[in-house]
Amino acid sequence: MADLRFFDPHAHMTSRTTDDYERMSKAGVRAVIEPAFWLGQPRTNVGSFVDYYSTLVGWERFRASQFGIAHYCAIGLNSKEANDEGLAREVLEILPRFALKEGVVAIGEIGYDEITPAEEKAYQWQLQFAKDNDMVVMVHSPHRDKKRGIIRSLDVAKEVGIDMEKLVIDHNNEETLESVLDAGAWAAFTIYPNTKMGSQRMVDLTKKYGPDRFIVDSSCDWGVSDPLSVPKTAQMMLDQGLDVEAVEKTTWRNAVTAYGYSGQIDVEGIHQDATIDQRQLFSDNSVLRGQEARVDDGVPN
Ligand SMILES: [Zn+2]
Repeated sequence: MADLRFFDPHAHMTSRTTDDYERMSKAGVRAVIEPAFWLGQPRTNVGSFVDYYSTLVGWERFRASQFGIAHYCAIGLNSKEANDEGLAREVLEILPRFALKEGVVAIGEIGYDEITPAEEKAYQWQLQFAKDNDMVVMVHSPHRDKKRGIIRSLDVAKEVGIDMEKLVIDHNNEETLESVLDAGAWAAFTIYPNTKMGSQRMVDLTKKYGPDRFIVDSSCDWGVSDPLSVPKTAQMMLDQGLDVEAVEKTTWRNAVTAYGYSGQIDVEGIHQDATIDQRQLFSDNSVLRGQEARVDDGVPN
């Protein structure tokens, strides 16, 4: 797998360590997208969102760069916290300040959790914002009642007039992917080590449906998840006879194409080996804790 590189377009890196960044970089992960989501417990004021979004476009982007990984993000109000309607209103007010910043490739992750009217209101508002600003949309699908949630997500996106080329529906499974493909949107799959969607099922689905609209990601959040899900799934695809092109599409090119519509991805740059200069600082901070800085102009992978 020496010459393959990977794009993990759904990776919650703020909940991950520098060891994870190192392992990902070694395994060939060249770029990630970190979507804004909830943090395991509800935030109580809008300032927490301001700081979180600032981290996604600031410190985390820097931290990734120190390990040779290009970091992009998606800005959005997640479905769970959309149910706190007073707070949701305040978050949507400040959201445009961050959504148009450098390195933001989509509005996301947005959509449904319990499929409530409050979630729908926030989803619609953010779709309209994405449409008005010609942005890509990353949709989170609910863990319960997934199929109904996905069909509703697609219907509402169509009503708002989102271009299906710019719509990525995430966390798909065998039951939902056909609705997404039929609609003409991108079908993303989050590969977990033990539950939900796994690598073997992803291999089987790619054999059955072909790789053209599929995107593989890891989520790698604060729960049980694996930051190496994308390279591991790629290896399993190769081992089980899928060709390099299918692997390359599902673990690199489709994500670059879909999120590339944002105009924010340095497509040429991520095709090159990364340059690392750990002497750099972000607001006077480095990741080094006093250890010697690594400086090189190409990460072998
Ligand atoms: Zn997520």
